[in-house]
Amino acid sequence: MASKRTQTDAGKLDQLVAESRQNRELREQGYREQALKLYPWICGRCRREFTRDNVEQLTVHHRDHNHDNNPADGSNWELLCVYCHDNEHQRLLEADAGGGISAEAAQPPSSVHKPFADLKSLLKK
Ligand SMILES: [Zn+2]
Ligand SMILES: [Zn+2]
Repeated sequence: MASKRTQTDAGKLDQLVAESRQNRELREQGYREQALKLYPWICGRCRREFTRDNVEQLTVHHRDHNHDNNPADGSNWELLCVYCHDNEHQRLLEADAGGGISAEAAQPPSSVHKPFADLKSLLKK
């Protein structure tokens, strides 16, 4: 009896996992669509412009790196081409690992961190 119930539970769990994965994919499609409606199809780093033919190379970056933070006004999103998006994450990974030149590495990863908050002061230099 017990084994039969375990089997059923496992099946249920598989189903739950599949559903939550599907929900996640749907949600990601949802915010990408919204971001593409809100913002011009231009990479925020290299300024490359995109059209319907290559828009799949334009991705949504979360400014605070929290993919669950999706305000409807798009304030946490930034459109980046796949290359710049890769670079962006690489840069932050290196900073987190302490190998970067950035002072960000000194901060605990749990702190609420705005990667672009000091951009203005950097530009002033
Ligand atoms: Zn780019
Ligand atoms: Zn990102």
